[in-house]
Amino acid sequence: MTLRFYGVEDLEKLPQLKVLSESYRVAMKAVAQVLPFRTNSYVIENLIDWDNIPEDPIFRLTFPQPEMLAPQLLSKIIWLLENNSPKAHIQEIASHIRSTLNPHPAGQVEYNIPTLDGQRVPGIQHKYPETVLIFPTAGQTCHAYCTFCFRWSQFVGSDSFKFATRESGTFQAYLQNHKQVTDVLITGGDPMVMQARHLALYIEPLLNKEFEHIQTIRIGTKSVAYYPNRFVDEQDSDDILRLFEKVIAQGKHLAIMAHYDHWKEIEPEIAQQAIKRIRNTGAEIRTQAPLLRTINDNPEVWQRMWNSQVRLGCIPYYMFVQRDTGASRHFEIPLVRAWEIYQAAIQKVSGLARTARGPVMSALPGKIVVDGVAKVGDEKVFVLSFLQGRNPDWCRRPFFAKFDENATWLSDLKPGFGEKEFFYELMACNG
Ligand code: SF4
Repeated sequence: MTLRFYGVEDLEKLPQLKVLSESYRVAMKAVAQVLPFRTNSYVIENLIDWDNIPEDPIFRLTFPQPEMLAPQLLSKIIWLLENNSPKAHIQEIASHIRSTLNPHPAGQVEYNIPTLDGQRVPGIQHKYPETVLIFPTAGQTCHAYCTFCFRWSQFVGSDSFKFATRESGTFQAYLQNHKQVTDVLITGGDPMVMQARHLALYIEPLLNKEFEHIQTIRIGTKSVAYYPNRFVDEQDSDDILRLFEKVIAQGKHLAIMAHYDHWKEIEPEIAQQAIKRIRNTGAEIRTQAPLLRTINDNPEVWQRMWNSQVRLGCIPYYMFVQRDTGASRHFEIPLVRAWEIYQAAIQKVSGLARTARGPVMSALPGKIVVDGVAKVGDEKVFVLSFLQGRNPDWCRRPFFAKFDENATWLSDLKPGFGEKEFFYELMACNG
């Protein structure tokens, strides 16, 4: 199929949107001035139930929603649009609003950019000792944009916001200098927007002898949901699969980190065909998604999604907590509710689907999972632990935070049992 993309200018033209009120449509257009909007013909024709908008989860996942901006900001942009303000002025205001939306959560700019020979290496993040993230320049976009996206700042066209590099050579030099790295995660945007021959430029060198220390190559992608044809009937679909086979033939592990937010994305026949074709190469598919208010904040959605994934041979991996960025005010869920949803879903699936870990915050000190809520003596606490820490020694040490029914992120939490700091803050202070 030929994929067609839709952007902000199409919000006025799409006939399917005419069932929404005029004010809803104007508000969507206003939100799209600030946060990036892009969807495609596959999503429109196969994933959205147009008889159920605006409630349809995939509609909410891909089309701008009025509640994504604070009411006073939304009114301001609507006023500017209705009064035909110059485009440049609207963009200036939009850009200011964006800068207030925490465009780089978890200290991505300050903490995760590594250096090589004293120079910063753009296009790479190295947060945990064994894993390096690579952001190929050509993969800094997606087949459609998710409304909640924490990487939204990469799509709005300001170079200072981009983590990218044009040179796979730089990545190789960095990896050659870091023999402790075993895992490379190629991510974006979505690297699967790249042509097979471009993707090969990043992957094939890692199959050479000097990269024996790289055991696993992961590819983070939403294309399995937003454009499964990518693996089935595009011009270079077979080349992609041959590339995957090459990785496996070299004795490396290839994991497709597939992003599915809802079971609706996995049910079309073409989506299942894509999974089958990927798995036939020897690659494994691990699945992950954040928990999102109005999209998948219901245990039954996760239960059905995880069950479908296991049936198709995928491995449920993470249920994330929505990050503190972009339109998070609209999508976030209190941590206690997130844990309740996880717990209610995981208890109803078989052991094979209980590989899903959650709810997990990918925060500045590391990946922290909410293990539960407990009462010890008179104090109600969250029980938490690290799945990954900036300091590997933090991994799986339980710690406690005062229970707070409104807390939605790590920064809202205070240490439990009268402690002044969390243990990892103390360890960080003590070097
Ligand atoms: S696919 Fe991933 S990177 Fe792309 S918009 Fe969605 S969440 Fe963001």
